[in-house]
Amino acid sequence: MKSIYFEKDIPRVLITKFASRYCKPLLYTGLNAVKYNKKLPDPPLPAGNWLRVRNVVSGLCGTDMSFFKATTGTNSAFEPIPASKRTYLGHENVGIVIEVGPAVTKFRLGDRVTIREYMSGCGNKDITPRCKYCEEGNYNLCLNYGAPSPHKLPDVGAGWGDTFIAPEQQLAKLYDELTDEQAVMVEPTCVSIHAVLMARPEPKEKILVMGCGTIGLGIVQVLKILEPSCEVWVMERVKTKQEFAKKLGADYVLAGDPYQAASDATSGSQVFVGMSKNKMFFGGFDRVYDCIGGNWSNTTALRLLHPRGTLVKVGHHMNAITFDESPIWWHEINLIGINAHGMEEWQGRKLYTFDLAQEWIRDGIYKTDGFVTHHFKLDDYKRAMKLALDNPPEVIKIVLDC
Ligand SMILES: [Zn+2]
Ligand SMILES: [Zn+2]
Repeated sequence: MKSIYFEKDIPRVLITKFASRYCKPLLYTGLNAVKYNKKLPDPPLPAGNWLRVRNVVSGLCGTDMSFFKATTGTNSAFEPIPASKRTYLGHENVGIVIEVGPAVTKFRLGDRVTIREYMSGCGNKDITPRCKYCEEGNYNLCLNYGAPSPHKLPDVGAGWGDTFIAPEQQLAKLYDELTDEQAVMVEPTCVSIHAVLMARPEPKEKILVMGCGTIGLGIVQVLKILEPSCEVWVMERVKTKQEFAKKLGADYVLAGDPYQAASDATSGSQVFVGMSKNKMFFGGFDRVYDCIGGNWSNTTALRLLHPRGTLVKVGHHMNAITFDESPIWWHEINLIGINAHGMEEWQGRKLYTFDLAQEWIRDGIYKTDGFVTHHFKLDDYKRAMKLALDNPPEVIKIVLDC
């Protein structure tokens, strides 16, 4: 089995952290904590409800990049949680079932599948009984995140490899009607859908989406599916992404100084300027979806909202940071965190985000055309990663051909 994984090997992790800050070329050498092992033994299925999958394609996303740069802070809530020695990269995958254990009930040989529970979820480690969140389908909130698997797990692999093994609960079936290029967009589409359904807009709200990467662009689209009467603004520096956002339904681009532009957009007050260009105004958006994360983004997003507005935190950097929290109490801001996907309520039905996303793509409600901009061979993952980290304007979604 070939697999790309992050190895929890402290000297390598420290070198990778150092490289990502001070010496980028070092990231692409053999010293990175992310390794490509082409000679792992093919693991046996640890239990009857496991299956083996051959990957076809697999997307590259922020989670993979954070492993490649070893960015999780030693002050982050993640840090104390015991992790397995190896974390396998790649979860936006499209694969074919090539072996099924005797107790598998949901899949057959030849089924096209994708990873639903990545890292989080009792189903991911095959823990039973499942915790109450996993039982209701919200595996993103799993209480057993820090618990070991009941199996003595071999190298299991994931999306960035030729094959991998998984318990059936970890996987979702891909709809036959979707092409591979559409199917590889299902997981990021789920993130955008979950973000909007967790913080649904009211009709005619003025909404700002900060950052137009894959997730932000998806949020623009979902907002217009849910509430076409909303006025959707985007904050994005790259022209091609501004244009794409408009094609997907964004009404306006927030240009120039964000405070002045937000005040103009929402008929707000004058912009007051304090020491060191510290700014504030009164008025602002009803709702901000922050797909950037970090100090600047948190501070700015909170100040661009009107009193009792809603900040939806989508982007994050798995680090304890410092930002100005004063608008949260001053203006009684609602703060909503978003983690991946799980179970949704939609038009009287309860269903996995993975099913809703696939229905919308299949039925042409949600468009994935134009999202995948680059393909690389699995063996060229370092070149793919370099392109992602350099982030030139034309890059949206990079996909590895497995
Ligand atoms: Zn992802
Ligand atoms: Zn759980």
